[in-house]
Amino acid sequence: MNQTLEQAVAAGANLLAQSSESAKLDAQVLLLHVLDKPRSYLFTWPERLLSTEQQHSFDTLCARRLNGEPVAHITGQREFWSLTLEVNATTLIPRPDTETLVEAALGLGISENAKVLDLGTGTGAIALALGSEMPLWNITAVDKVTDAVALATRNQQRLGLGNVRVKQSNWFSSLDNEYFDLIVTNPPYIESSDEHLAQGDVRFEPLSALVAEDSGMSDIKQIITQSRDYLLSSGYLLIEHGYDQGFAVREFFKTMAFVNIKTIKDLGENDRVTLAQWP
Ligand code: GLN
Repeated sequence: MNQTLEQAVAAGANLLAQSSESAKLDAQVLLLHVLDKPRSYLFTWPERLLSTEQQHSFDTLCARRLNGEPVAHITGQREFWSLTLEVNATTLIPRPDTETLVEAALGLGISENAKVLDLGTGTGAIALALGSEMPLWNITAVDKVTDAVALATRNQQRLGLGNVRVKQSNWFSSLDNEYFDLIVTNPPYIESSDEHLAQGDVRFEPLSALVAEDSGMSDIKQIITQSRDYLLSSGYLLIEHGYDQGFAVREFFKTMAFVNIKTIKDLGENDRVTLAQWP
């Protein structure tokens, strides 16, 4: 039998509680995706009945979520900063923690027409958030994964952010003779033996976006080392990292002769971003 919107959310939340920590929210988001309505619709029309087709779609989406598939993969989108981004299984789903990096970058007070580089852009989240706030920044977003480059390009075009250009590059490999005021990155930084890779949404994300050698430090170290050849004098490098990597990242910045090294915490009070300046 067809349910009302209110009943559908309750039944979905009840079902999804078996496999999700955000069961009610998941049910609401999936139902709104089926209805193709804004969030307020659920609270305005709780008694409205689903059509048979809508009921069937909703049940199908709940079954996929019950099986562990991330909500963002099911709906094909995720909110990040003030933007709605297309998301798929070729790259990382943008996380709220990464907004800490965006906020830190915007707070540096660097020039209005800065040249900025986002390494390993994935969906384009960081570059596009910065581009939406700083219309005169000239932002290059790179990724080594062809499908991620295509995805970030679609996001850039749909959002109409002409100050961001997306390009394929394995870290700095396609960036000869370019110099930046600011380099930002959310690289892979999880150790391959980390048990949380076998839990929850990350199981559906590519390891190429998550895992790095050398206790999760290998890409971070490569980026710090190479960025010295691409930063303008007094330019900044901002890196997202694991909650327990702050000390190691600061030490490596020091070894590589960076100055003004500082770690910033995320919303959960964990070390999440370390930044430093090239003298
Ligand atoms: N913070 C993410 C997680 O813990 C990982 C992101 C990354 O590796 N860059 O799942």
